[in-house]
Amino acid sequence: MLRFSDVKNAANGKWEGILIGMGVSPECLTGKHGPCPGCGGNDRFRYDKEKERFYCGGGGELATGDGFDLLSHINGWETAETFKEVAEYLGVKPDASPEAKAKAVKYAKQAEAVKLEKELSHEMTVLGQVLFVRSNGGPKDHWEREIEAAKTIYKLLRRLYGK
Ligand SMILES: [Zn+2]
Repeated sequence: MLRFSDVKNAANGKWEGILIGMGVSPECLTGKHGPCPGCGGNDRFRYDKEKERFYCGGGGELATGDGFDLLSHINGWETAETFKEVAEYLGVKPDASPEAKAKAVKYAKQAEAVKLEKELSHEMTVLGQVLFVRSNGGPKDHWEREIEAAKTIYKLLRRLYGK
């Protein structure tokens, strides 16, 4: 299924280019008051680039909204149609199948576990070495590193077991 949030996120911050790419005259998007690309007039329209919102005072009532709303206002499209057009323009594909999604989640979890185990193994080696040096009459001034390693091991184990 094509999700609105995916299209919205993909469009976020890129509206000026999208609007121009979808046929809106760049002259309408300068930020100055001018004719509305949707309903005409002389100076009823303004587009705020930073906020990515338009304001149109046509028809007496102020119309305002985001890029989707602007395209609807210009083309007379229903919300769903605008959404579909923008998704197509951006090349946003419908979601993968539930199976593919579940697989991706599983792989991500496995990869995370492998990473945690590597970190764990490293910290355990460090701790083992420090303990070995100390118990064999070596210097006792690495206690801070020992505690740090023990704390890290504790944290890593908890993450590994999801506790
Ligand atoms: Zn208008």
